[in-house]
This record gives sequence, C-alpha cells and structure tokens, in this order.
Amino acid sequence: MKKTVLITGASSGFGRMAAKLFHTKDWNVIATMRSPEKEVELTTLSNVFISKLDVTDKLSIQNTVAAGIEKFGKIDVLVNNAGYGALGALEAATEEQVKQQFDVNLFGLIEVTKAVLPGMRQQKSGIIINVSSVGGRITFPFCSLYHATKFAVEGLTESLQYELNPLGIRLKIVEPGGYKTEFAGRSMNLFGANDLNDYKPAFDNFIAMLDNWPMSENIGEVADAIYEAATDGTEKLRYPVGHDAAQLIEARQQMDDVDFKKMMTAQTVI
Ligand code: NAP
Repeated sequence: MKKTVLITGASSGFGRMAAKLFHTKDWNVIATMRSPEKEVELTTLSNVFISKLDVTDKLSIQNTVAAGIEKFGKIDVLVNNAGYGALGALEAATEEQVKQQFDVNLFGLIEVTKAVLPGMRQQKSGIIINVSSVGGRITFPFCSLYHATKFAVEGLTESLQYELNPLGIRLKIVEPGGYKTEFAGRSMNLFGANDLNDYKPAFDNFIAMLDNWPMSENIGEVADAIYEAATDGTEKLRYPVGHDAAQLIEARQQMDDVDFKKMMTAQTVI
C-alpha cells in the first residue's frame, strides 16, 4: 500500500519541493497551503491532494486531516514545515507580531501534530518531521522571537519522543541553514528597529550580514533531508542541512557561551 505524507506550507520553498519529491517517490501527498486557489503545478500531479490549511485555523486543520484520511486511508508522515521569520529589536515588536510568530511557528505546529496523532496512535505507526532551523540550535542578533519558536520546536520534539515512541510514532527534526526560498522575501517580517535609534547601527549591520549571507540555491537538499527522515528507519533525531548549518552547529558545540557570543558579535554587531 502506498504511503501518505501531509505537508504544511506546500505553496513554496521546502514544503513545495518536498511535496514534489514524495510524489516522484510514488507517495500519496496531502499538500496543504493557505491559498490553494493560486496553485497551478501541484494540482496537475496524480495522488497529490491539495487542501486548504492555515496552521492558525483549527477548523482548517481538522477538515484537512479528515479529508486526507478519507481520500488515502491514513497519514503515515506529517511534515510540519509552515513558518516564517519575525526579525527585529524585541522592544519594537508589537504584541500582535509576537503572538503571530508563536501562533504560526509553534502553536500551529502543535495543533497540526495533535490532529494527526489519533490516527497514528490507532495504526500504531507514524513519523512526525518538524522543520526547525539552524536557528533552533544557535542564535543570531535580532532574531530572538524566531529563535524562541524554533528552540521551542526543538525541545517539544525531543521530549515528545518519550511519550510517542512507545506508541510506534517517531519524531524527527530537520534543521536547514540559509536557503534561497521565499523565507528572506515575503516570509520575513522585519519590524521596527529603525524607529529606535539605539538599535539602528547594530540592526543595519545585521541586515548587511543577512544580505551577504551565502544562501544556498539548492533547496532540494532540504527536501532530500525530509525524505531521508521519513524513510531511513533509524532512531536519528536531528538532520542539519547545508554547509552553514553544519559549521555553525559544530562551532556552537565547541565554544562556551562567552566565546560563541564574541564570535557572533564580531561577525554581526560590530
Ligand atoms: P517559504 O518559501 O517562505 O515557505 C514558507 C511556507 O510557510 C509558505 O508555504 C507559507 O505559505 C507557509 N505559511 C506561512 N504562514 C502560514 C500559516 N499561517 N499557515 C500555513 N502555512 C503558512 O520559506 P521556506 O524557507 O520554505 O520555509 C519553510 C520552513 O523552513 C519554515 O519553517 C522556516 O522557518 C524554515 N527554515 C527556512 C530557512 C531558509 O533559509 N529558507 C532556514 C531555516 C529554516 P503562504 O504561501 O501562504 O505564505
């Protein structure tokens, strides 16, 4: 029997690439997105079911999971991929900006996870793959909200192993470095450091560093890592992807807090 994957945020970037990869590997794909009416490519692929899902809308999550199970019988793998970056000086973030960052990157992921768990428990199998970030392991300046959500995703996922492994459900974390998707464009919500002069020089430096960051164009690497996590049959939890992710995580492991802060400050703040 074909396996079925449900992917959030399949309208662009990693989610879209992963949907296409699972399709070519002969999986059933529930490709979910906020605006399915805009989709023209995935709709043409057999065994790809497009469903409207906003991770902040509980009803759309429940409807999608029910419709996906109705269509394909079960969900074997969930890829929690939807997310965006709210970046800026914390002091300048509005309550709404803070809330929205957590609603999408963390609380939305939790709601989608809860929605697939009854089926996975019943079938005594399943894999939940959470797309975190190198930013779930190390920190940059002016990304405190984003890191807070991704560090939370890492802790949530690691802990869930203890309660879900005995029920036949495995957990995975994919940690991409910098890739050229819509993330640095329409999925980046920059807020207010320019309104607070004390932060402006450091924020400008940070933006210059981001502009010069060697973003990889090979987003297929991340789709490959997601597919590997879904199929390798191992207990492995974390899948860092990209040369920058590997380097930064290794540097973090080798330095103490003070040395890492000095290194990051030298590269981004001064
Ligand atoms: P992307 O191309 O901007 O894709 C983000 C996806 O999330 C889009 O499909 C977007 O849908 C969706 N999304 C946003 N808010 C949503 C909501 N409320 N409900 C459902 N879907 C929502 O960027 P990406 O790089 O592929 O990002 C995917 C994941 O990778 C994110 O979790 C991001 O944090 C993580 N990541 C990215 C990078 C990078 O450098 N690109 C690095 C590390 C981690 P719409 O089309 O409707 O906006």
